[in-house]
Amino acid sequence: MAACGGATLDNIDPATGAVIGTLPASDGADVDAAVAAASRAFPAWSRMAARERAAHLRRIAELIERDVEALARAESIDTGKPISLARAMDIPRAAANFRFFAELCETIASRGAEVFQTEAPMPAPPGSAAGSQGAGMIAGRAVNTVHRGALGVVGLISPWNLPLYLLSWKIAPALAFGNVCVCKPSELTPTTAFLLSKLGIEAGLPAGVLNIVHGLGTACGAAIVSHPLVKAVSFTGGTATGAAIAASAAPMFKKLSLELGGKNASVVLDDVDVEWAAAQAARAGFSNQGQICLCGSRVLVHRRVYEPFVRAFVDRVAALKCGDPLEPSTQQGALISEAHMRKVLSYVELAKAEGGRVLCGGSRVEAGELPERCRGGFFVRPTVVEGLTATARTQREEVFGPLVTVSTFDDDDDAVRLANDSSYGLSASVWSGDGERGARVAERLEVGTAWVNCWLLRDLRVPFGGMKNSGVGREGGEEAWRFFTEARVMVVAAREQQISRSAKQQS
Ligand code: NDP
Repeated sequence: MAACGGATLDNIDPATGAVIGTLPASDGADVDAAVAAASRAFPAWSRMAARERAAHLRRIAELIERDVEALARAESIDTGKPISLARAMDIPRAAANFRFFAELCETIASRGAEVFQTEAPMPAPPGSAAGSQGAGMIAGRAVNTVHRGALGVVGLISPWNLPLYLLSWKIAPALAFGNVCVCKPSELTPTTAFLLSKLGIEAGLPAGVLNIVHGLGTACGAAIVSHPLVKAVSFTGGTATGAAIAASAAPMFKKLSLELGGKNASVVLDDVDVEWAAAQAARAGFSNQGQICLCGSRVLVHRRVYEPFVRAFVDRVAALKCGDPLEPSTQQGALISEAHMRKVLSYVELAKAEGGRVLCGGSRVEAGELPERCRGGFFVRPTVVEGLTATARTQREEVFGPLVTVSTFDDDDDAVRLANDSSYGLSASVWSGDGERGARVAERLEVGTAWVNCWLLRDLRVPFGGMKNSGVGREGGEEAWRFFTEARVMVVAAREQQISRSAKQQS
């Protein structure tokens, strides 16, 4: 649907640099219309039985699975990511999100409301001896019932790196627990959100339950955040944007969940098999061209194994196959945009100026090395830099691209100190030949998720989120239920018991 004002934005394929389509440049008027449609849909959707809402979600999951190839291709073209990654991770995970929250909303509904009993002095009932004396109190009991209800219209804003994966991570719980939503995907990656809206219609979602508005963050996203009828905002994106959203939403007392940036450490202990750890750290550092918030962009290595580890790591990274994202064997695709490519390359120059040595990569992939159709694309060689101090900007700022720094530490305490020496606190991974030692290091890390001898493993039941500048709040599992619902408590004095007790006292 066109934007009310008729404006459009170009959609660019980052692997070719070519304009492949246009999308509506929606603004406040479009957001008003979406919020109005959502508000009309809310009463019926929120009152619908949980099992009926779950059935809609499961139907969407089935349709995503049916269309996995088309969705993976669209995601690869919009983002520049290897199609193998979109097929194996992004799209299956989107379906899993809908299935998981379908199940969870039924489970929670089957538990019924939470009930607590309070034993405490109560106002004596009228007619009792104590009550007839005025404000008399008797020993009594009250029943507290906690109801959690949907919030209403919620705003869901997501970034470009894992478009359908992250948007469905928000849409599925919002809808499962009875909310209606107005969503804004990144304008750089609109296609799978558009395709999802079509699947929602095919799945029979009532009109107005799921609204997707395309446009720029500063116009369309900001209008969602500041809309008075939007009760909560779930945002995933950069830390600076998160701060702007908090400044707008907090004075309106909206619920906020902010999943922000990271500068995650991969900690390599000296008891590890270095070849294996190098392979794992390369995967953690460069998956999706380093454009996953959880990528390990600071590799910290015990001094004793530094040299063999770095040799193996650089060999692995330099061997990653850059090329056409639609080619199944490609391991490194394009970066999301020309501006982002220039930002990443500017950090390579900064790293050099800060005294870093580039061990591999460090430049744009030459046009001649790419297939003809990709010669205008935004490809950067996977880059490893050593020799930077812990205070270097390249070690402290989120680059969000294929640039990983390597540094040494002397013992486990030093590793913990360096890993925690960051304004971010999203995740970390620890690689060790001894899982218990790895866990002792991991539990001291100031991060929302610490992995030991694994990376990116996510059980959808556990809380997900960041500490420090990596965010506020948790999503996932029952944390999502708490975020997308509001508790109301009803307290009822159990009069019969009061009467019988007061009668007993009188006799
Ligand atoms: P941005 O913060 O630039 O944008 C995220 C989304 O917010 C986009 O849809 C954007 O629209 C929108 N937006 C921008 N400004 C506003 C505003 N003032 N009000 C409302 N919405 C706005 O992030 P990127 O898209 O560049 O994504 C990369 C970032 O996301 C990285 O920092 C990364 O670490 C983080 N991230 C965090 C994750 C986590 O779980 N913690 C997971 C994945 C990514 P537009 O595109 O038009 O600007």
